[in-house]
Amino acid sequence: MNYSEAYKSLISTRQLINHSGYTELHHIKPKSLGGGDEKNPNYGNGAKISGDRNPMYGKKHSEATRAKIADKAARKINCPHCGRIGSISNMKRWHFDNCKKLK
Ligand SMILES: [Zn+2]
Repeated sequence: MNYSEAYKSLISTRQLINHSGYTELHHIKPKSLGGGDEKNPNYGNGAKISGDRNPMYGKKHSEATRAKIADKAARKINCPHCGRIGSISNMKRWHFDNCKKLK
């Protein structure tokens, strides 16, 4: 298969589509996936709360809060499918329901 030709063919047909009124970007769930018309309340807020407009600007977390954050970051869990041990966020992303051993 000539991927370059397939890509060019796909792009050339997509460029013919009229995108006016296409508003998927700020919907919580894309309309194409069955979502409604409700807007994501955080869409476009990045600039409104950046720098000195951020509620935490110039403040520091209390020692108690810092200890809670450190405890959570240091916590390790292991995958029931492959037995690997790792941080919560990485393990939830790459293991449990997404573990390679399940496939
Ligand atoms: Zn695993």
